Amino acid sequence: MALSGLDIYKLLAKTNCKECGFATCLAFAMQIAKKALSIDKCPYLGAEAKAALETASLPPIRPVVIGMENNKLEVGNETVMFRHEEKFRNPCGLGFIIDDNLGDSQIKQSLEKINVLKFERVGQLLNVNLVAVKQNGDGKRFVEVVRQVAENTKLGLVLMSEDSAALKEALAISRERRPLIYGADSENLTNLAQLAKEFQVPLVARAKDLDGLSVLTQELSKQGLADLVLDTGTKKIKDKLWDLTQIRRLALKKSIRSLGYPCLVIVETEDSYAEALEAGTYILKYASIVLVRGFQNWQALSLLTLRQNIYTDPQKPLQIEPKVYKIGAVDEKSPLLVTTNFSLTYYTVLGEVEASKVPSYIMSVDTEGMSVLTAWAAEKFTPEKISDSLDKFAVKDLVAHKRLIIPGYVAVMSGDLEEQSGWQVRVGPKEAAGIPSFLKNLQ
Ligand code: SF4
Repeated sequence: MALSGLDIYKLLAKTNCKECGFATCLAFAMQIAKKALSIDKCPYLGAEAKAALETASLPPIRPVVIGMENNKLEVGNETVMFRHEEKFRNPCGLGFIIDDNLGDSQIKQSLEKINVLKFERVGQLLNVNLVAVKQNGDGKRFVEVVRQVAENTKLGLVLMSEDSAALKEALAISRERRPLIYGADSENLTNLAQLAKEFQVPLVARAKDLDGLSVLTQELSKQGLADLVLDTGTKKIKDKLWDLTQIRRLALKKSIRSLGYPCLVIVETEDSYAEALEAGTYILKYASIVLVRGFQNWQALSLLTLRQNIYTDPQKPLQIEPKVYKIGAVDEKSPLLVTTNFSLTYYTVLGEVEASKVPSYIMSVDTEGMSVLTAWAAEKFTPEKISDSLDKFAVKDLVAHKRLIIPGYVAVMSGDLEEQSGWQVRVGPKEAAGIPSFLKNLQ
C-alpha cells in the first residue's frame, strides 16, 4: 500500500537537520509521499526504513522499455486514472503484426509502408513504434522472418512465439534491439521466463483474467523478472475495456503491485474501420501498447492524432514560439496576419495561408498557448499585447505598410487596437478556411 506523508515521517530520524534541503523531516516526508523526490536525499535512513520507503516509492505502474536508442519505446509509469488529474505520461505504442507465413516480398512491401508512417502535426513528429513478428508455422521460418524484419526496420520488435527454441534463435539475432517477448502463460512460463532473463528483455504475461495475471506476475517476479507487460487476450471491446480499467484502478488506487505493469492489446478484426475504432478505444483507456494489422495511412494518422491529443499535458497546451513567421517569398508589401501561439491555431492558419499561395507574415502573439477566443476572454490577446508584439518583433522593419489582419472572432478589438498601435486593422475571416479567399481578394 502507498504510505501517507505521516507514515513516512514516522520512519525518518525526526531531527530536522535540513540536510535533505527541506526545513523539516515532515516537509521531506510529504514530498516522498507525492513521489516527487528520491529517498536518497536523506542520509539518516536505517536499513529497515529504507526498504519500506523504497517499496512504497516504486511507481505504481512499472515503466518498461522496448527497443533501443532513437527507437526506444517507454511505456507504463502512469500515475492517474484521468488525464485532467495531472497528465498521461508515456504515449501508447502503436505496432503492426506481420505473420511469418507471408511471402518475403510481401513482408518487404509491408515494412516499406510501415517505415514511412510518420506525420507532422502541430509541429510535432508522430510516428509508429513497433513491428511484431507472429509465428504461424515452423520455427525456422519464424527466425528467418525476424531476421528479415530486423534488417529492414529500425522500429522496436515484438517476438510472438511459443516455441522457445525458435525464440532463443530470434533473440540471439535481435537482443541488441531489446525486443518484447509475447508471451508467457501458465504453460510456458518457465521457458519464456528463462529466455527473458538470459537476454534481459521484457516479457508479456498472458492470462484470461486478472487473478490469473496476478498469479503469473508474482511467479515471474519471484524468478527475478521485473519488466513485464500484461495481456488478458482478445475479448469483446467492453470486456477488454473492463480489464484495462480494472488493472489501472487496482494498480493505482489499491497499490496491487502484481498488476502494476503496462498493458498490451491485440486488435483482431478484418474490417479496417472497426480495427481503427477498436484500437482508438484502447488508446483512450488504458492500453500502453496496441498491436494491429492494418497499416493504411489514414488508420495510422487517426490513431497517432488521437494519441497525441490524449498524451498532451492538459496543463501545458502545445505552443509555438511567439515571433513573426515568414510564409513563402515575402517582401515589404506582404500582408501581416496576427494570431495566438497555440499550436493548433497557428498551424491551422499556416495551412490556409500556404494554400492561398499569397506570401504572408504571421505574427504569433504570446498567449501562453491559448486559442484566439480563450486568450481574448482571458485578456491574453489584447490590443496592448498585440501592440507590444509589433514593437518587440520590430515588424515595422519587415513591411513598408502599417496594416495588420486580426481574426474575425476578435473584430471587437479593432478600434482599440488601431488606437494603441497606430496600425490600420483589417478584420479577417472568423474561420481559418476563409483565409485563402480573403488573402487573394486583399487590395
Ligand atoms: Fe529529516 Fe533526513 Fe531531512 Fe534531516 S535529512 S531533515 S533527518 S529527512
